[in-house]
Amino acid sequence: MDFLTVKDVSVAGRHVLVRVDFNVPLSDDDEVADDSRIRAALPTIEFLRDQGAKVILVSHLGRPGGRKVPDLTLRPVVGRLSELLDDDVCLISEITGAEVRAKIDDMQAGDVVFLENIRFQPGETENDPRLARQLAGLADIYVNDAFGAAHRAHASTYGVAEYLPGVMGLLMEEEIRVLTGLRDGPRRPYVAILGGAKISDKLGVCRRLLNKVDALILGGGLANTFSLCLGYSVGNSLVEAEMIPEVRSIIAEANRKDVDLLMPLDVVVAKNIAPSAETRVVDINDVSPGWSIVDIGPRTIARYRDKLREANTVFWNGPLGIFEIRDFARGTEEIARSVAAQDEANTVIGGGESVEAVKNLGISGQIDHISTAGGAALAFLAGEDLPALHVLQRAERVRVPWVGGNWKMNTKLKEARKLACEIVARWDHAEPEVVLFPPHPFVQQATEEASGSAVTIGGQDCHWEDSGAYTGSVSALMLRSAGARYALVGHSECREYLGDYDERVRDKLSAAVDAGLSAVLCVGEQLSDRDRGQHRQRVREQLQIALGEPGDYPARKLVVAYEPVWAIGTGRPAGVEDVREMTSLIREELEQLLGAGAAERVRIAYGGSVNAENVGEFMDLPDVDGVLVGGASLRTKSFVGICAGVRDHVLSSGEE
Ligand code: ADP
Ligand code: MG
Repeated sequence: MDFLTVKDVSVAGRHVLVRVDFNVPLSDDDEVADDSRIRAALPTIEFLRDQGAKVILVSHLGRPGGRKVPDLTLRPVVGRLSELLDDDVCLISEITGAEVRAKIDDMQAGDVVFLENIRFQPGETENDPRLARQLAGLADIYVNDAFGAAHRAHASTYGVAEYLPGVMGLLMEEEIRVLTGLRDGPRRPYVAILGGAKISDKLGVCRRLLNKVDALILGGGLANTFSLCLGYSVGNSLVEAEMIPEVRSIIAEANRKDVDLLMPLDVVVAKNIAPSAETRVVDINDVSPGWSIVDIGPRTIARYRDKLREANTVFWNGPLGIFEIRDFARGTEEIARSVAAQDEANTVIGGGESVEAVKNLGISGQIDHISTAGGAALAFLAGEDLPALHVLQRAERVRVPWVGGNWKMNTKLKEARKLACEIVARWDHAEPEVVLFPPHPFVQQATEEASGSAVTIGGQDCHWEDSGAYTGSVSALMLRSAGARYALVGHSECREYLGDYDERVRDKLSAAVDAGLSAVLCVGEQLSDRDRGQHRQRVREQLQIALGEPGDYPARKLVVAYEPVWAIGTGRPAGVEDVREMTSLIREELEQLLGAGAAERVRIAYGGSVNAENVGEFMDLPDVDGVLVGGASLRTKSFVGICAGVRDHVLSSGEE
């Protein structure tokens, strides 16, 4: 599996945003009616706490439609989680603002907080980049453990992973492991049972599933729509009539692919959907107007059972009737029993209601795998690319291009605010990642301007200690608490005028990383090194000392900026071939120091008289992932021009 999990990253002391799927059923008195989804995520939460992470949980509950619906608060869920963890979990009602920041900043290793129902936010289901960035801004690492929501590209399942290093949780890992086996090598015959109420949601995957299964058994509202398509009248039954053309083509495709499609022969119909309703068993061609199909009939049950007896693999999603009502539950229960009775077969059940039905019968122990997901499991088994997984994989493989703007010792408060504000207003793309480095006194104002935007703020330097008697210095923790996400260390000007030497740069880098900041490590040779032919050696040495100690560098949070000192501020950029040679040497050295996997993910930026015109030439180089801009970053137009140049380059190379 080419995914990283929580076990592959170092989380100690870091804020970790964990997307869980705690969309649990609530009882009438607002208690959690079934806590299995909460229990299923405990291994990940406990693991992170044991490692000393600060855990920020996010989940949705129900479909509040982007506004606060008091009945859908996560309060009962948080209550149950607190009991299970035997610890207080605090529910945070807002996502932005000083109060949240303060609560999050105050967290200690092992603490757990929960953000209120993420679907109260209008941007969640639309995957609004603003919300994704706000979420990303709360943490250093993103963990997705919400397999049940993995088929949705929402801000908390997808967008956020574009802005943070992302890995899977343990539950997600286990689900993927089991379901991959089923998807790629099922023992035949392979029979899938599909039912339930989410008809249009399930039809798309139903078609793809035809490529995998030998037989498809239908029930529930899904089967009603098939019956209607075949010309039977279905009375008042739940159907989605607009799906008929889709259903027709699925039936044709099943024929072509020789998949045995099993549909109800007889059904239970009811006058109304209520416990004491009058019911009848009728043939499928005999449903009278005014009646509703509420379950499959006995002949159908017998037929389906026979089919299941032949199976060596069974996947089931969606109840076959309205099983919540006693009188309409027989079909679902009988089928559940026959799935459970298939000792020899590999049996998997997924879906909120389907799983509930099996649990009610007390036979879940006889099922090989009970998935926490319905729609997502179905989509995965059908061979779809789940957005939430896709984005995690992509984030791992790709080095997101990067542009830094180092303002050096320039601007006064008003200008700094204006510059940040203008850049923020003009830059709204996830790629390249854009980071501004204002002078220390303006970091906080800049982070305010950039809050929720595509722009990130960093400090130009940081001290190697967290605090203490170091007059005039600024620590990484201070930067962090002012809202910065980056620190620049080892800039040539700090080396030249402030006495930074390689060992000190190493300590500053460690301090930045320990504080949870991303770090830009600047390296580069003097003109004299180059004249003596020692530029390669000099840069290798800088890297070896800065990264040589067994430090722990989350590769995606490290940027190495190569700045040949003779090209900075001189208007004379280094030759493209020189930059090619030096950046490839840097990548090589990173491999030696960090291992090939990590070195692949570190971004290398070139710095030195870059402008909108020449940026493309540097970006063309295989080991250049971005640029660190000096003087030109003080003018909105030229800086945004460079960012746009990098973006154009990215887009055009993506088309190849
Ligand atoms: P799952 O949660 O297992 O993925 P769905 O959410 O798609 O399944 O559907 C579950 C719901 O389908 C149940 O609440 C059940 O009452 C309903 N259902 C099953 N059969 C019918 C039917 N014939 N008519 C209306 N609703 C049905
Ligand atoms: Mg459901």
